[in-house]
Amino acid sequence: MADPVTIGVLALQGDVREHIAALESVGARAVPVRRASELDAVEALVIPGGESTAMWRLATAFDMFEPVRKRLADGMPAYGSCAGMIMLADRVLDAVAGQETFGGLDITVRRNAFGRQVDSFEEPIAFEGIDRELRAVFIRAPWVEEIGDGGPADGGVQVLARVTAGPGAGRIVAVRQGVLMATSFHPELTGDNRVHGFFADLVRAAR
Ligand code: GLN
Repeated sequence: MADPVTIGVLALQGDVREHIAALESVGARAVPVRRASELDAVEALVIPGGESTAMWRLATAFDMFEPVRKRLADGMPAYGSCAGMIMLADRVLDAVAGQETFGGLDITVRRNAFGRQVDSFEEPIAFEGIDRELRAVFIRAPWVEEIGDGGPADGGVQVLARVTAGPGAGRIVAVRQGVLMATSFHPELTGDNRVHGFFADLVRAAR
């Protein structure tokens, strides 16, 4: 195989190990990123699932907020799952007071969108660019309430997946915009690493 891609996993909070294992299983070199010097050494970043409010506070406390923002602004590929999707969104509904995100994706997400009754659930979903359905695991997940104007051809957001059943039927749960992608669900928890493979391909193509 060609030179493996080096992908960092933001390791302030959340399910970091699961993402590292999933990335390694698709042939990427995966490393935890806790400080700016570690961020400098990776060509792409995964922002894990966890809790976006904690991630925001820790990123600020560990002086990682601006460095990550700057790398994203400079075109670093990134993939966020669940809380990571929130961290990559330009706009957040039901955020806590003062909550900030790295931004980059022209989307509005709603935190904990599926409601308390459905804290977590699984659903098979179709994912644009991946052959067979995925088993998607949602845990206090956000959904994408709105995407910005302008289609993928104009640099806008491409919808990769929607939920088909239940209270969120029709809601957008996976998107891509250029070198950025995000899912409301957690492919790192299922042992099916096709979404990570999709991201590794995207990182390779962005070289
Ligand atoms: N509800 C969490 C948040 O707002 C996300 C949950 C998750 O990542 N599983 O950050």
